This record gives sequence, C-alpha cells and structure tokens, in this order.
Amino acid sequence: MILGIECTAHTFGVGIVRAGKILANQKDMYKPEKGGIIPMESAKHHKDVAEIIYQEALEQAKISEKELKGIAISISPGLAPCLLEGLRFAKKKAKDLNLPLIPVNHCIAHLEIGQNVGSKDPVLLYASGANTQIIAYSSNKYRVFGETLDMGIGNFIDSFARYVGIPFPGGPEIEKKAKNGKLIELPYSIKGMDSSFSGMLTKLKQLYDKGYTLQDLSYSLQETSFAMLVEAAERAMAHTGKNELVLGGGVACNERLQEMCRIMCGERDAKFFCPDKQLLVDNGAMIAFTGEIMSKSGNKKDLETIDILPRERTDEVLINWR
Ligand code: AMP
Ligand code: MG
Repeated sequence: MILGIECTAHTFGVGIVRAGKILANQKDMYKPEKGGIIPMESAKHHKDVAEIIYQEALEQAKISEKELKGIAISISPGLAPCLLEGLRFAKKKAKDLNLPLIPVNHCIAHLEIGQNVGSKDPVLLYASGANTQIIAYSSNKYRVFGETLDMGIGNFIDSFARYVGIPFPGGPEIEKKAKNGKLIELPYSIKGMDSSFSGMLTKLKQLYDKGYTLQDLSYSLQETSFAMLVEAAERAMAHTGKNELVLGGGVACNERLQEMCRIMCGERDAKFFCPDKQLLVDNGAMIAFTGEIMSKSGNKKDLETIDILPRERTDEVLINWR
C-alpha cells in the first residue's frame, strides 16, 4: 500500500495504490484570481489543503495510515516553492509513521500510469501546461524524443485564452469555442520532433485584433497545434518501432486531440491508450502508482537524502525498474 503525493505546480493531490489498483485519488487545485500561477501562492495553497486532502484519500481508500508501506512524492520537475511544500509534508508523514520515501519524477509518472489502462511499452505524448514532450523508453532511460522549444502547449492555449478574456485554465473553454469553426492558416512549426508555439501565439493575437472570430481562431489553434504534436508522436513511434501511444497531461483531456491520436494510431495499426481524465491531469494516484513500481526495485530512500530537483529532466533519471 503506497500513498503518493503530487505537488509540482497548481495541484496538490494524494493517491493510494495497492498492487497496481487505485484505491484513492483526491486533489485540490490552486486557481489564480487573475493571470498565471504565482509559485509562492500555489505553495501556500498546498500547505493549506495538504492535511485535508491526505485525510480524504485515507477515507476514500477506507484504510488507516498505519497500513501504508511507503510514501511516494513528486520531487521533480516543477516549481520550487510547491515542491518544497510537498516534500516537507511528505517527510513529516514519513517520519511520524516511520515509512520510507520514494522520490518520483512527475513526467515519468504520466508515462507509467498508462499501464493502468493496459499500455506496456508506449510512446508518451505528454501535453500539459508547462511541459510538452514526446517520451519513450530506450536503454535504461526514458528518452525525450521531442519537446517544445519555447512554451508548453497548455501555457500557449492559456496565453491566447487570457488575451481574449478567458481566465485560467483556458483550454476547456477554447475547446468549446472551437466547435464547428473554419480553418485559418497558422504558422506550423515543427523541426524533427521538436515544436514551437510562440509564432502561432503571436499570429493568433494579431488575427483576433483584426476581428477574426474566436470560434475560427480556436478551431484553427487546435487543428494546427495538435497536428504538430501528433506528427511528432508518430515520428517517434516510427523511429523507436513502438506500437503504443499513451496520452498524458491536462491538454490530453481535449477530445479533439484524443481523436487525432486515435486516427493516427488506427492508420498505423498501433494501440492508443488514454487514461481516465482524473489520471491525465496532475494527480497523486499516478505518483503512488509509479512509487509502487519503483519501490519493488528498491528505490526507497532515506528521508534525509531526498531533496527537490525542480529542473530534473526526464532522461536524467536512471530507470532500474523495467
Ligand atoms: P496540467 O499542467 O497537466 O495540469 O494541465 C493543465 C493544462 O491543461 C492547462 O493549460 C489547461 O488549459 C489545459 N487543459 C485542460 N483541459 C483542456 C482541454 N479540454 N483542452 C485543452 N487544454 C486543456
Ligand atoms: Mg503534469
């Protein structure tokens, strides 16, 4: 029985997993009143809700904390104040209950949770607010085959949304506006498996100022940026010879993105796995799930040796559990 804590950015989540089965997945999200995330405010949010979410997870799993065998904690990558608050909480619980801590890389957790819906050796299209990466396993590391060269896809969508008066998070609202829009040509910027969104953002803002409708702009934003991601993911699948695709990250909740991935996988006879929405967004269950896999290979660490790694890259983590 492993409890997992997610704290890298806006979400404080606690999940509980036993033998790969998710028993609890509770979370609370910090929402800035206006503008983007302010790290110190998000960290304060985590501090305020931590104990409540922790208790809710125990209740949902119907277990007592004495039954826990370890605590998994997201220590990377993320906003330093948020990571620190999460680690402080995790260390306190681990000390009180005399449990080992398992440090988990957040991006890798998005990939591992694909196993919950049946994937085995996938390419992960990780499309979230701050991160946009194409990740797959190769010789003891999860390699980043492609990534954004400027902003994450979610931040890109949120930035445009904010420009037109839609508050954070803008993605879901843009998805609604995009229904039945017409395609306007936008800068399509992909190099190898890397992508960039700043040119498209500038263009979208200019077109909005010229009076183009939000419907057509939202539609074109989705069609163009998602096509870039799907193209990069397909190239990674072809390059690695893998025939599974897993989606992860908040933007993966977008049904049009899911549909485009499904079509691409269908065309190349590959399997497409899309975890449940509650497991796509930042959540404690994926941290617990990954922590459980890691702990079986002896990745429990002494409390004092664990620190946050705000800038750790996916391919810096030695994968000793596959
Ligand atoms: P994450 O960083 O993984 O927690 O995901 C948050 C990001 O997902 C934000 O940028 C949201 O705007 C975005 N998002 C959530 N739902 C959707 C959606 N339906 N379509 C596009 N983006 C979305
Ligand atoms: Mg995430």
